[in-house]
Amino acid sequence: MHNAAFRHFDIDARYELRPLESDQLEKFFTEVREPEWLGFQVTAPHKQAAMALVDEIEAEAAAIGAINSGLCTPEGRLVGFNTDAPGFARSVSSDLGMILTGARVVVVGAGGAARAVVHACLNAGAARVHIGNRTPGHAAALRMEIDDPLVTAGGMDDDLDAALRDADLAVNATTVGMTTEGVPFDVRRLPPAARVFDLVYIPAVSDLVDQARARGLMAVNGLGMLVGQAAIAFERWTGIAGSDSVMRHAVEQLAGDSTAQA
Ligand code: NAP
Repeated sequence: MHNAAFRHFDIDARYELRPLESDQLEKFFTEVREPEWLGFQVTAPHKQAAMALVDEIEAEAAAIGAINSGLCTPEGRLVGFNTDAPGFARSVSSDLGMILTGARVVVVGAGGAARAVVHACLNAGAARVHIGNRTPGHAAALRMEIDDPLVTAGGMDDDLDAALRDADLAVNATTVGMTTEGVPFDVRRLPPAARVFDLVYIPAVSDLVDQARARGLMAVNGLGMLVGQAAIAFERWTGIAGSDSVMRHAVEQLAGDSTAQA
């Protein structure tokens, strides 16, 4: 994705993948202080640990409690930020045609991605957010940490069913559909005007998206969020906005290939 955008905008840079164990992070964050680095991205499970290794954390990332991206200044300073939350909000707006302001949202999942989604919803002025999770204690811990009266939390229980019945938007922020088969929640609980956002993007049409569409609900996968978060980071590194379509084209080919292989 990023390399397609670098080529498209004729920028002499490249995006490299560095598979790292936790004990290799510190060395990596020393290396990226060298002047040739524009920035970096961090994925699970390093999004929280990386916070201790940068010089500055922007306010939204500090509130979320995770960085997924960073800028390397010419002076060798590292500034960490989070593009997952704005990437989600951008995709809700552009792919689902929906505004989060005033929306009643259900987020299923309480891991790193759910954390970014809940913050994006609250930042955009959602009316309320219910977090439902397989392990209710993880949802309760996230709610306590966020400490906002608009947020409720529980397990996969009657409270979740009640929140789904009254939702404008239901989000899958679990790994269900990607690493395990099945659906994270029952789309039959949702009202006819509700929309479904599945953060999973491989397979491109998960069982959840398939079932939601079969019910006549508007539903999207996580590709738009993946592209949105990448394009926001690209803009921070290069000052160039609007790389979304180039990136989307590149990643759709990749996702198509992976789906075909699966
Ligand atoms: P994570 O921190 O490991 O959290 C995983 C979540 O899934 C937890 O809430 C976990 O529940 C739940 N879960 C796992 N297996 C489950 C099962 N069999 N039944 C019900 N719940 C189950 O992972 P993450 O980083 O938040 O990522 C979650 C998903 O979002 C992944 O599929 C990831 O690829 C996707 N994602 C997409 C984007 C994007 O740009 N589209 C960005 C980030 C993440 P417990 O608390 O009970 O363990």
